[in-house]
Amino acid sequence: MDKPPPLEPLPEDWTRALAVVAHPDDMEFGSAAAVARWTGQGKEVVYCMVTSGEAGIDSMEPEKTRTVREAEEIESARIVGVSQVEFLHQPDGVLEYGVPLRREICAVVRKHRPEIVITGNFHPTFGGRMLNQADHIATGRAVLDAVRDAGNRWVFNDQLVDGLEPWGGVKAVWVGGSWEAQHGVDTTDTFDKGVASLAAHAAYIEGLGWENWDPREFLEGFGRQTGQRMGVAFATAFEVFPMGWED
Ligand SMILES: [Zn+2]
Repeated sequence: MDKPPPLEPLPEDWTRALAVVAHPDDMEFGSAAAVARWTGQGKEVVYCMVTSGEAGIDSMEPEKTRTVREAEEIESARIVGVSQVEFLHQPDGVLEYGVPLRREICAVVRKHRPEIVITGNFHPTFGGRMLNQADHIATGRAVLDAVRDAGNRWVFNDQLVDGLEPWGGVKAVWVGGSWEAQHGVDTTDTFDKGVASLAAHAAYIEGLGWENWDPREFLEGFGRQTGQRMGVAFATAFEVFPMGWED
């Protein structure tokens, strides 16, 4: 089998990032250790959850699950140095890609004015025939569009009140969990924080009912494979979509 190509290190000359993902736990299944590295460098990262993952625990009513999972996400964000977590309260499991979702995400981009926006894999699969989930696909596609929308004064113009301005300063969207990734982040020093951040989703993990499933083992598998592509112990990969025209 061919060796996978080396990953190019992601730039770290930025100060503000916004991560927009479909569910509590989406950042923790791979990207959280990279977030811990960046917050450790003094960068600011804000999380935005499109849903509260309220349909994610089979044995628990959504009303209760919402509360439990929001609390777990806030704790898992805290572990990697993220103090702001927004919840858009869109319906878990049945998100629709379209203008209403773009509008919601656009408002968050305008509010936080990030240079980098992070989201999750929106390709139909995670590689091979391992199917992606509908909310991830809807969210990632809407994020790419919403980042452009945010810079256009005449799109969702009604949002521009109370000091909210257009924001065209996003340099790139970085997509975690994509098998097309060609960039990576060395997470060797913050790997343990990533594990703790995933383990904070205790009720969710228990609800999955995967026997003997261990967050560390799971993250080590992917982390090592990706690390080999950067010549380090552990790494996380991202697919990069530049937002400017020049590169
Ligand atoms: Zn998810």
